[in-house]
Amino acid sequence: MKAKISEAYQKLIIDTGRELCQQNLTIGTWGNISALDPDTDLIYIKPSGMEYNKIETRDIVVLDKQGKMVEGFRKPSMETLMHLAIYKARDDVRAIIHYHPIYSSALAVTGVSLPAISEDFVQLVGDKVVCAAYALPGSEELAKNTLSALGKRKAVFLLNHGTLAVGRDMKEALKVCEVVEKTAHIYILSKKVGKCRIIPEEEIRKIQDLAKNYPEKLPDG
Ligand SMILES: [Zn+2]
Repeated sequence: MKAKISEAYQKLIIDTGRELCQQNLTIGTWGNISALDPDTDLIYIKPSGMEYNKIETRDIVVLDKQGKMVEGFRKPSMETLMHLAIYKARDDVRAIIHYHPIYSSALAVTGVSLPAISEDFVQLVGDKVVCAAYALPGSEELAKNTLSALGKRKAVFLLNHGTLAVGRDMKEALKVCEVVEKTAHIYILSKKVGKCRIIPEEEIRKIQDLAKNYPEKLPDG
């Protein structure tokens, strides 16, 4: 029986790519986006080497969880191994965005971690973003390094390369992209002003508990 292909998921990949470019979070063909449809367990992923604003629904590659092509005629993104490894290891992830933004890449080229310096970052992303060890783009080694540095967090830096964000859905993954980039920008600016306060572990736990169990207490906080 032929698997059911979702046009909504195909469009989600296209729209997210355009949104990334509009927000200057990536340019040209760089970066890649995928989403997992829990109803069919199929993965929708950006085709390799295509500019975001030229991609149409038929260009989106659909894979099963083992990476076998189910639909499409293009080559899937060169970072497909990385996407597959994350979906395999993290049940909570249904969307992945790898992008090449300016400020978080400034940290990613130095191998510096982004610490917990703001509330929104702690609520959404985790206690920090660390940098994965370098490996060639598209390699199995990069997939392995990325997964191990990502851990249970929502984002990871790739040394000399860029950033990767994950989410329970595409809306959350995109929000993670924005918050990581904004926090990296603030962190870099704060270095010129003085020493910024890193939120201590105990406070991180309390903030995350509030966000998880009492989201109504942090509506716009
Ligand atoms: Zn990349």
